[in-house]
This record gives sequence, structure tokens and C-alpha cells, in this order.
Amino acid sequence: MVDNGFSIKETDKRLQRLGVSGHDISAILVTHEHADHLGGVARFAKRYDIPVWASHGTATMMDNVESLHCFNSHKRFELGAITVDPVLVPHDAREPTQFVFQSADFKFGIMTDTGSITEHMVDALSGCHGLLLECNYDRDMLLNGHYPPSLKQRVAGDWGHLDNQQSAELLQRIDTDDLQHLVLAHISEKNNTRDLVLDTVSQAISYDRAWLKVIDQDQGLDWCTLTIEINEQETSHA
Ligand SMILES: [Zn+2]
Ligand SMILES: [Zn+2]
Repeated sequence: MVDNGFSIKETDKRLQRLGVSGHDISAILVTHEHADHLGGVARFAKRYDIPVWASHGTATMMDNVESLHCFNSHKRFELGAITVDPVLVPHDAREPTQFVFQSADFKFGIMTDTGSITEHMVDALSGCHGLLLECNYDRDMLLNGHYPPSLKQRVAGDWGHLDNQQSAELLQRIDTDDLQHLVLAHISEKNNTRDLVLDTVSQAISYDRAWLKVIDQDQGLDWCTLTIEINEQETSHA
């Protein structure tokens, strides 16, 4: 599990919908200390006796987690059969990291809560089979909306969040040839719409709107399955 901003009850409900329970979770990785990511971690970890992993900076903001493990945010580490590459991001937290996970066959990246695009991010996310990417806000909606000026500055700043255009630019810069699922996430309820996200991303990278997935904050998302693609040559030999 990556992050948890929900109550135990809400988390249980969402996991149940996917056919799993808290007992099936072997580790929780925390990206950073903002409440929508960390708020539910300690109580859920305690309830199901799950170890928690975070960068040293994020860990300084967590005093109520029993089984807490720190990783070096510049170093790859292993969690069971999964290799985890933390990806440091520019965001207004102590030591925020997003993640790239690799198994024998697949590479899956998660990238939310970053105010700018870095070369490091582009390198790390290239070649993913699955990618969950933040499309936080539409710039016009944010600037013309009702957020106080300081909050507008925070969100739109270099240590805030990616807007639809920046996310589209990031997608243009990474190698997406192997991408089987692209999930657009962390979408602002006040400063964005599903249609704006789909329009911007599909136009920028010439993807069919129907192929893109947008996470709804209330409904979440169903399982996405990655499959091993056998190339034509191998098939004809077989
Ligand atoms: Zn967030
Ligand atoms: Zn955040």
C-alpha cells in the first residue's frame, strides 16, 4: 500500500471492494507527511500490524508508528519480490519521494505531489508498464477560482503540484512505448474537471480518451492488470 489518508473503516470498505483486506497488506510506503497521504497510516498499520516505510525526512514527522523502517531516498531497496526505487520530488514537505516498483516482468510508477518536472523524474518513469500520474489542477480554474492567493501560489509553485499541462509535458518526455495502463490521479475537486484532464492529456500524447483512466476521489479505481506481451516473432516460432 502506498499512503493512506482514510479512516480504518473507509480503507476497509475500499479494500473490500477490490477483494482484499488489511491482512493482505505486507507493507505501507509513505510518500510524504501531508495529511491526505499520512493521515490514516498509523492507525491502519496498528490495526493490521503492518510495517511502514518512509524516507528519513518523512519519518521525522511520524511519531506514532510502531514498526517504522527508513529507506535512503537515493537508494534502491527490496520489499519481498519487489524492487523499490524512491524518486525524490520537488514538493513542500520534509523529504518527499514518489516510487517506481519493479518485479521480474513489470515496471510500475507512481508520481503525485510534485511542483515541477526534473530530469531524474523523466529517467525514473521511462519504460513503465503502468503509471499513476498526478493531474492536479487546471491553471485557469486555479487562478480564477476561490482559493486565497497564498494557497494559489503554493499549489502552482515549483514545490506544489503538477497542472494538466505539466503532466502532459512529462508524458511527452518519458518513454511510454511499454505503457499498458495510464491512471490520472490526485485531481483537485475545486480546480479541475475530468474532461479537462482527459482533453489535455489525450491531445498532448495522442492517446484515445477512452483508453485513459481518471481516478475519482470517492469511487477510487478498479484493479488494473498488467500482462506480458509476447512479440509477433516469438508467437510465429511457437
Ligand atoms: Zn497530496
Ligand atoms: Zn503533498
